[in-house]
Amino acid sequence: MSTPLKILEKYWGHAEFRPLQAAIIDAVVARKDVLALLPTGGGKSICFQVPALMQDGMCLVISPLIALMQDQVNNLQEKGIEAAVIHSGMPFSAVKETLQACTSGAYKFLYLSPERIESNLFKEYLPALDISLIAVDEAHCIAQWGYDFRPPYLRIAALRTELPAVPVIALTASATKEVETDIIEKLAFKGYTIFRQPYKRPALSYSYFEVESKINKTLEIINNVKGGGIVYCNTRKQTKDIAELLQLQKISADYYHAGVSADERQKKQKKWMLGETRIMVCTSAFGMGIDKDDVRTVIHYDMPDCLENYYQEAGRAGRDGKKAYAVLLATSADITKARNLHETRFPAIEVIKNIYQSIANYLQLPVGIGEGGYFNFNLLEFCNNFKLDLILVTQTLKVLEQEGHIQFSENIFLPAQVCFTCSKENLENFEEAYPAFEPLIKALLRSYQGIFDNRISIFEKRMASICKQSIEEIQKQLQQLAAMGIIEYLPQKETPQIHFLLNRAPAAFLHIDKDQYLKRKEAFTTRINTLIHFATNPDCCRSVFIGNYFGDIDKNNCGICDYCLSVKKNKIEADTFTSIEKQLFVLLSKTPTPIGSIFVALAKEDKDAVWEVIHFLEAENRLIMNEEGTIQLV
Ligand code: ADP
Ligand code: MG
Repeated sequence: MSTPLKILEKYWGHAEFRPLQAAIIDAVVARKDVLALLPTGGGKSICFQVPALMQDGMCLVISPLIALMQDQVNNLQEKGIEAAVIHSGMPFSAVKETLQACTSGAYKFLYLSPERIESNLFKEYLPALDISLIAVDEAHCIAQWGYDFRPPYLRIAALRTELPAVPVIALTASATKEVETDIIEKLAFKGYTIFRQPYKRPALSYSYFEVESKINKTLEIINNVKGGGIVYCNTRKQTKDIAELLQLQKISADYYHAGVSADERQKKQKKWMLGETRIMVCTSAFGMGIDKDDVRTVIHYDMPDCLENYYQEAGRAGRDGKKAYAVLLATSADITKARNLHETRFPAIEVIKNIYQSIANYLQLPVGIGEGGYFNFNLLEFCNNFKLDLILVTQTLKVLEQEGHIQFSENIFLPAQVCFTCSKENLENFEEAYPAFEPLIKALLRSYQGIFDNRISIFEKRMASICKQSIEEIQKQLQQLAAMGIIEYLPQKETPQIHFLLNRAPAAFLHIDKDQYLKRKEAFTTRINTLIHFATNPDCCRSVFIGNYFGDIDKNNCGICDYCLSVKKNKIEADTFTSIEKQLFVLLSKTPTPIGSIFVALAKEDKDAVWEVIHFLEAENRLIMNEEGTIQLV
């Protein structure tokens, strides 16, 4: 059997594993249940892809976003690894064909969107599939009170019951202790191992500024810190506006959001990765799958809605381990808005029901049908037609998602579809007459079984790489083949879609569990308040604050965040410092002492001053404090 490293080299061309990857892979190969917590871009995919390639059988991958699944499948196919995807946007026949192919071991990886798990078709085929590993990507989506709960994820539990002997690897970028516990419980982990990278980022300096002009502060930061950067905003319009303002100041900047076409997004991202564009102004849509380790600044122009997202986004700075800056900006109005955000995010239930009714009207969808259906949904047109507020509708869609009624996806990428429409004999004649088309025709027939009789989703990118031609050239040839009556060709498209997970209900009876809804609202409020607390008044080192939030026990101050720097500035007078230091050493040289007893013994000193000296000595690694708050000399 090939070793993990050999597989990594063979398929990915990487020479070594990143921290934790090798250990995670070993545990998966040993058929243990594994929870892997690695930052975004940390290389989670390899943690299940490499072990799957070392074993017989197929790896089933559950992932929340169709676009993400498609991306990964394309990447695997480009490496010559057989992979397929099943999501709800696909026609029944295509799903069936893919599953049929899986029974004969055609694929090493099957990507599956979670709402498919309970479909009859999948259940019918499941016993015939030789599944060796289940990978649950973005596993935090299973946590009901977490920040990104997706109801279909709860269906994964059923898989576990059906396949009790198959190990599971769950992957996510960050999780609080509660979310961690929830994942382990809902996935019924047995004899499991957790791998967690420390949340501490020693060279990342966090700071927060409440300012009157965020653009001025942004310019100041960008002018002071050399190198590439990201500016995160909450709205698409802002990304463009701010990028233009930066350009006016002769700063190389571009913008990025989910409304830009996939091709454009790829171009923009590439230029930024290469350093041709210095600053990317973007919404949170930017960042998935970006792999640039020398980002020097990440500025948040608007407040995110939880510390999980803030930490993820800020953490894109300084992955090379060199000094980098994460700056959160707000005006006082932003803070007020954040404090009230829970009201906007959780509209009244009556309002939700009314908007649901309007959506059904817009889609002309009668009561009692629609389950599993995909509908084009133009959000702006909808708001205009029904005179509804865009933000309110966006929030309502989120609630309907959380309640498990629908899924809304912007710009779902639907691959091109092709079916041959001529007879085999005609095709042979055609190939002789037009040899220039032969490579493409051969590639289509070899890559896609059944394409002669059925309409099949094809990946133009893959055809391009097999034929060694550009995608544009492939598309042109496909159009020509269609014009000449050889094939039927539906070009790839990107459209926002609403996917009904349940049949359309009468609005009055739309099921929204009020208790759960209020509980979710409460959880949201707690999260945003924690973020406001973190921003405006952390009371401690920002790194420690974040670490504590995720259950990390490391209490050493970073020494470089704005909090730590302000503490250093207010340093106590030298005499007082020396006096406290001496007393501490006398006390601690006898025995490790709880912090409470230290305060008692040093009662005549100022308590804050004692704290500062302890922190200072701790930073100097001359004493340490354990979890219970007992201090001892090193
Ligand atoms: P995540 O899912 O954790 O966000 P990905 O699995 O998408 O991250 O990987 C991010 C990038 O890092 C990919 O381009 C991947 O090829 C790269 N990568 C992963 N592991 C390694 C490694 N050991 N050496 C070099 N690059 C790696
Ligand atoms: Mg990933």
